[in-house]
Amino acid sequence: ASEVGGGDKEVVREYFNNSGFQRWKKIYGDTDDVNKVQLDIRLGHAKTVENALKMLKDSDRPLSGLSVCDAGCGTGSLSIPLAREGAIVFASDISAAMVSEAERKAREELPASAQMPTFEARDLESLDGRYDTVVCLDVLIHYPQSKADGMIAHLASLAERRLILSFAPKTFYYDLLKRVGELFPGPSKATRAYLHAEADVERALQKVGWKVSKRGLITTQFYFSRLLEAVPA
Ligand code: SAM
Repeated sequence: ASEVGGGDKEVVREYFNNSGFQRWKKIYGDTDDVNKVQLDIRLGHAKTVENALKMLKDSDRPLSGLSVCDAGCGTGSLSIPLAREGAIVFASDISAAMVSEAERKAREELPASAQMPTFEARDLESLDGRYDTVVCLDVLIHYPQSKADGMIAHLASLAERRLILSFAPKTFYYDLLKRVGELFPGPSKATRAYLHAEADVERALQKVGWKVSKRGLITTQFYFSRLLEAVPA
């Protein structure tokens, strides 16, 4: 994957519409056909979603009726429970395959009384509008640091009150290197993964007038995720 001319983004879109879609649909699903590593990532990711939901609920305003943008929604792991809680959810992803799987699951799992999220195949750079809260879980891994600042600034510009982000922290770089062979066994299954230093993400937030208000860290054997909640400084 090349970074030149935004090549990374096309590679990521292609991947999550094809082999990556099959792979991650399985990891984020609940079927038994996952190996040990995939199961570990499934459990780690579920904890990230759970912790993000806790952050979202732990506020002076109830989730019900709040507008939430889930940028890079994947198969809807966060959007669906959010809609169940009554949030008005705008779910989008660069991959049309991921978004339609999220929509299919939402129709299957949400009660008729719940407001369906609005699903859209869109890369997060093209999102506009304003939302009470913007959430972006485990998407920064597809951004080199040179593009991460702009991405964070854009997400912050869409949020009125709160931004929740998760990313693979650089502290675990060597751990991840050791395990990466098992994570991505073949070149066709991998997109390039970028880890981020927490200080770099914080600096990007500060540059646009935001500050970190809560932190979480989720680690399992093969999964590492730093979760940050940020608010206008
Ligand atoms: N946020 C979801 C979750 O936690 O369940 C999905 C995480 S998955 C590891 C990363 C997702 O980011 C993929 O669905 C991918 O298609 C999406 N993605 C990557 N780059 C993106 C971009 N520039 N704009 C929108 N979505 C993007």
